[in-house]
Amino acid sequence: MIPYGRHNISDADVEAVIEVLRSDWLTQGPAVPKFEDLLAIYCGARHAVAVNSATSALHLACLALGVGPGDTVWTTPNTFVASANCALYCGAKIDFVDIDSTTWNMCPSEFEQKLRAAERDGLLPKVVIPVHLAGQSCEMEKIHRLAQSFGVYVIEDASHAIGGKYQGQPVGDCRFSDMTIFSFHPVKIVTTGEGGVVMTNSKELSDKIRRLRTHGITRDKKELSEKTVSPWHYEQIDLGFNYRMTDISAALGVSQLLQLDSFVLRRAMLAAKYSDQLASLPVTLPQVRPEVLSSWHIYPIRLRGKYATRLRDKVFNVLRDASITTSLHYSPVHLHPYYRRLGFSEGQFPVAEQYGRDAMTIPLYPSMSDDMQAEVVRALACALG
Ligand SMILES: *Cc1c(COP(=O)(O)O)cnc(C)c1O
Repeated sequence: MIPYGRHNISDADVEAVIEVLRSDWLTQGPAVPKFEDLLAIYCGARHAVAVNSATSALHLACLALGVGPGDTVWTTPNTFVASANCALYCGAKIDFVDIDSTTWNMCPSEFEQKLRAAERDGLLPKVVIPVHLAGQSCEMEKIHRLAQSFGVYVIEDASHAIGGKYQGQPVGDCRFSDMTIFSFHPVKIVTTGEGGVVMTNSKELSDKIRRLRTHGITRDKKELSEKTVSPWHYEQIDLGFNYRMTDISAALGVSQLLQLDSFVLRRAMLAAKYSDQLASLPVTLPQVRPEVLSSWHIYPIRLRGKYATRLRDKVFNVLRDASITTSLHYSPVHLHPYYRRLGFSEGQFPVAEQYGRDAMTIPLYPSMSDDMQAEVVRALACALG
């Protein structure tokens, strides 16, 4: 069986986890800050706050920016539901910006038009959450410039994009955003089992998120209302959550980070080979902009002609019969039943909707051998023949 994605766990990863299990700390020990320091250094951001999932990271990032009832958050419809759900958790409204037809990421000119219309109607969003689909950074310089001129905060959902670069700098440095989120779910580029992180250059946001991940509790003397206190004294000053990452997860994360560049290199080599070998088939291949180095979390293709309209399920089945699993990233968020109940409907974001009808994610992961890739190429040629 060749899945569309797969985690990569080395003996060193296993050893790192066992070492924590034999130590004094399973959680709130030394591994989490070590993982956070490494992430900050790798990305060139001042702060990293690790949490138990990217979903939690998105939730806390929104809360830290003060998102609440009466506010609106915008994201792309071509994403995992978590990029939109975070706004709803805060009691805010969600809306979407359609995608660009070549990068399949949030379209900067759609964003600009929507901002102008929203300004006229007094409905500007508080936050925009661009998502770096498949590991390709969005056009962050443009998105950030527009967001700034309309007073909108930016959170990058870089769940697909750790190890990628934009304009020569690592995704996650937050040069063009207030915060950047990574996911460490096993299907992503590096894993902690479950886990996520918020990257930021703002000490204020970092402190706030640190507090919110652990119930809103502080032990910082400057923040305590009671000044002459015993060493065990703590106070809850916000309504937070238990969103902490364990030391078991963080130790796995540290060990995985050491392999990140080699994972991304292998992914990029497999992607280059696909781009070469699939060029003659009736498919549209991913286009990476010149200023971007993709981390290639997934390899989506778009079927053309009759395959796009009627025969995608048949292609999926032919591949499955050849023991090759494909997937779709993504069916547009606004068309899920829950979002339809909020009032969204077909036709609102036509570019993302067309993508949802004709796209297919084919297998790509570092431990995929050249032979396995050749099998996928052969099976696709056969299914599309
Ligand atoms: C995986 C993913 C998430 C959620 O990540 P978790 O760590 O599983 O919570 C959010 N956004 C995008 C784009 C993702 O791919």
